[in-house]
Amino acid sequence: MIRQFVPQEFCLKCRSCCRFKEADSVWSPCLLDEEMQGLVDRPGIPAVSISADRRIQVVVDPAGAGFICPFLNASDNKCRIYDQRPFECRLYPFLINLRKGKVLLTVDLNCPYVIERINTPEMREYIAYISSYLNSPKQLKNLKDNPQIIQAYEEVREVAELRLPRDTE
Ligand code: SF4
Repeated sequence: MIRQFVPQEFCLKCRSCCRFKEADSVWSPCLLDEEMQGLVDRPGIPAVSISADRRIQVVVDPAGAGFICPFLNASDNKCRIYDQRPFECRLYPFLINLRKGKVLLTVDLNCPYVIERINTPEMREYIAYISSYLNSPKQLKNLKDNPQIIQAYEEVREVAELRLPRDTE
């Protein structure tokens, strides 16, 4: 279980997450292999399309321009699969980023909670926690087995390097 950085009450008032400018946005949720089957098998959730590169296929936002995750309830801003949301969503506003051959932990500079707390002791403490979590043998294996979630994001700040074996890159 990943300890969350952004409190849920802050997220519910912000209307940035889970919304995307393009249908094939790099920011749309990308699944671990084990998560794909879990979402398909789970009863009571709407069927969704998953792309060949293991992304949840986003849908047109009925209330505005752009696209939204099909699991987002746009009226109350809640995730319909919150207890089963993907690893990437649990990690956000932190992201696994491939840059210049290095696997880096980065943070989204478009998240207002991040902007308000950049360089604060609270953020430094969380970065130490999440870096240690991701650099554990179990989580490094998780990343090694799921290279699809190591992506090239822009408008992020590098906060730590992850110690993946070179053959993962
Ligand atoms: S799965 Fe849930 S948390 Fe993740 S993008 Fe979709 S609505 Fe947001």
